[in-house]
Amino acid sequence: MADIIKLLPDHVANQIAAGEVVQRPASVVKELMENAIDAGASTIKLIIKDGGKTLIQVVDDGMGMSETDARLSFERHATSKITSAQDLFNLHTKGFRGEALASIAAIAHVDMQTRKEDSEVGVQLKIEGSKIVSQEVVATPKGTSISVKNLFFNIPARRNFLKSHQVELRHITDEFHRVALVHPNIEFHFYNNGSELFNLPKTKHRQRIAHIFGNRMEDRLVPVNEETEVVKISGFVCKPEFAKKSRGEQFFFANDRFIKSPYLHHAVTAAFEGLIKSDMYPGYFLYLEVDPSSIDINIHPTKTEVKFDDENTLYAILRSTVKHSLGQFNVAPVLDFDHDPNLDTPYAYKEKDVILPKVTVDASFNPFKETSESKGMGKSFQKTSVKGWEDMYEGLDKDIDVEEFSSVVIESESAVQGTLYTDEEVEERLAATFQLRRKYVMSTVRSGLLVIHQNRAHERILFEKFLGEITVKEGVSQQLLFPLELTFNKQELAVLNEIKESLTNIGFAFESLKHETVKVTGVPLVVPESGIGTVLDHLIADYMEGFNDGTLSQAEVLAKVLSKNLAIRTGEVLDQESQLALVNNLFACKEPSLSPFQKITYTIVSEGDIDKKFS
Ligand code: ADP
Ligand code: MG
Repeated sequence: MADIIKLLPDHVANQIAAGEVVQRPASVVKELMENAIDAGASTIKLIIKDGGKTLIQVVDDGMGMSETDARLSFERHATSKITSAQDLFNLHTKGFRGEALASIAAIAHVDMQTRKEDSEVGVQLKIEGSKIVSQEVVATPKGTSISVKNLFFNIPARRNFLKSHQVELRHITDEFHRVALVHPNIEFHFYNNGSELFNLPKTKHRQRIAHIFGNRMEDRLVPVNEETEVVKISGFVCKPEFAKKSRGEQFFFANDRFIKSPYLHHAVTAAFEGLIKSDMYPGYFLYLEVDPSSIDINIHPTKTEVKFDDENTLYAILRSTVKHSLGQFNVAPVLDFDHDPNLDTPYAYKEKDVILPKVTVDASFNPFKETSESKGMGKSFQKTSVKGWEDMYEGLDKDIDVEEFSSVVIESESAVQGTLYTDEEVEERLAATFQLRRKYVMSTVRSGLLVIHQNRAHERILFEKFLGEITVKEGVSQQLLFPLELTFNKQELAVLNEIKESLTNIGFAFESLKHETVKVTGVPLVVPESGIGTVLDHLIADYMEGFNDGTLSQAEVLAKVLSKNLAIRTGEVLDQESQLALVNNLFACKEPSLSPFQKITYTIVSEGDIDKKFS
């Protein structure tokens, strides 16, 4: 029988390997930038077109390559960085696998120009799908420039899998941040479609962070420093009051390499315990230095997952170091061990069930009782107002308070009998709504009891409203008497520019959208003036975060984000008018039964269902 096993040709093997190394344009950016750093560059330029789908170019002024090295660099397992497996335990370079260039060249059109300082001329190599198509002598500055065009040109399935330009650009920007944050001593430039996104001069860590994430960052950083036998920790955490709703600025670097570590992330979060809400994320930029032999960065081809020898110790050190820094810089009580945690936790009060004074003027409650016992009116009001009227119903299934229960029966009876009200008034009364547990709005309908989820229903209403306004551009704007100046970082500003037109359509008015500051002169009626900054922050974060998976139009994405951020929340007390408006507006919607996030907005408990309970 004939032998059937064959060695794969190199270009096929390279394509397969490329699948691991290059997932998207951002992976190419990472590899090329890391090579530039390994080559000792002091200035690195990143040039992107169309989210990297058309062009990714990295230009460095590093050591360059000889003609032979230039050709060899595209071979698989060709590296100048290690010579034996032992070297793996003493790595001081970013790369070492010798796979990146070979992989990239297998799935794109690559053009490399490189010159060593001591060579008079450089070499230009063009490679398409692993094949060298041209090699020429060129005059080129010292260093290396690599352009990667038409990524995945020969793997259509992968190319189609790429997301929109904006999404890919965001991934690239993330990689850029990760590299730029560890090398403040290197100057970086980042251009996208001809415009400069970042221009980062040589500086120190703290300023580098500010240059990337906006100058407002400077005052928010608390330094973290600790040196032990196991690890040296430096860097910054953000003050708790600047914690974000979305995972934004969270960076761990181990030996100058960006890493992901849910375990260490937990250690930092634990240090913030009691200082921020559980659904908020602290910002941090933490640089760990460990003995290279105590860390294994080889377990993942893209090398963001690492294994530390002694993770538990690292966890404990990190947690106490961050805690200590927060304490030292007066942002947390240092001796918080014996305290009632609630006392040190400002947000805990917010989370407690608050009895809102609004309830006391909820005149819709108990109108019958008022008139039937005119003398005792004040008293009965007092009682309900203190407890919150929904609390009256809360205990019904557990321990029935006979007195309260009977008073409820009496009032509904009097209404039905209509002894005090005309028929019309009784009708009105019957059509009225009430709120249950600050979560549901209840009303009677012909077939039974209507229960509306206030938050989801309002999301639906706002979603349809905003969607309409964005498309027909008819949002009503409320002019601000005193225009508001808000600061944003470059990335946020880019998003804001992207969605500006839609925001204008729904009633936002911006006077200038310049570097870092934005002047807001008008907002939609539904946006409270006090919350403009927060709303915009959340909008940008949510928009960046993933609603935009390419399947929805920008208008839909925005309408969703807006509705999510502006809808009435569970826990909010609604007055009678708002309750009625909610019911009416919901049923005026095109699709009243589902929230924009595909959750049920209301249900009807039928008379039959109720009857069953009594059978
Ligand atoms: P690795 O970085 O793992 O060694 P790569 O495929 O990324 O593998 O690169 C292969 C080799 O090409 C490197 O080891 C290095 O010698 C050389 N090289 C790549 N990029 C550059 C660059 N920008 N400047 C100088 N040499 C480079
Ligand atoms: Mg490399």
